[in-house]
Amino acid sequence: MSETAPIATLTLPSDRFLTCAHCNVTFVWTGWEQRQEDQEPSRCPGCRHLLASTRRWGVVKWFDPRRGYGFITMADGTDIYVRRRDVVRGKLRRGRLVSFRVVEGKQGPRAVKVRVQPTRAPR
Ligand SMILES: [Zn+2]
Repeated sequence: MSETAPIATLTLPSDRFLTCAHCNVTFVWTGWEQRQEDQEPSRCPGCRHLLASTRRWGVVKWFDPRRGYGFITMADGTDIYVRRRDVVRGKLRRGRLVSFRVVEGKQGPRAVKVRVQPTRAPR
């Protein structure tokens, strides 16, 4: 091997400036982060942290046990995607009250650490 042989260098894409869809702040999506994440984040790091650290409530809209996924209707009326592997307690069934946290997944926001509450949601 000659000393002039090319060295494998880590080339990073250049940093990009993005706007948070939630709070409208401009934030940097670094080249390093771009290598780690396939899709550009829709929210700034602060909002992502808040979303992930706040436990939310919702009601199971539907859940397909064969496919292992479904949707939860959150308190604000929007639906969020849920997978069986992200359920830590109980079984998802339509109408069950659940608590969970939200993370930005590759296909958008997703409910994780889902806990099915022992009682049914009030009608
Ligand atoms: Zn934000």
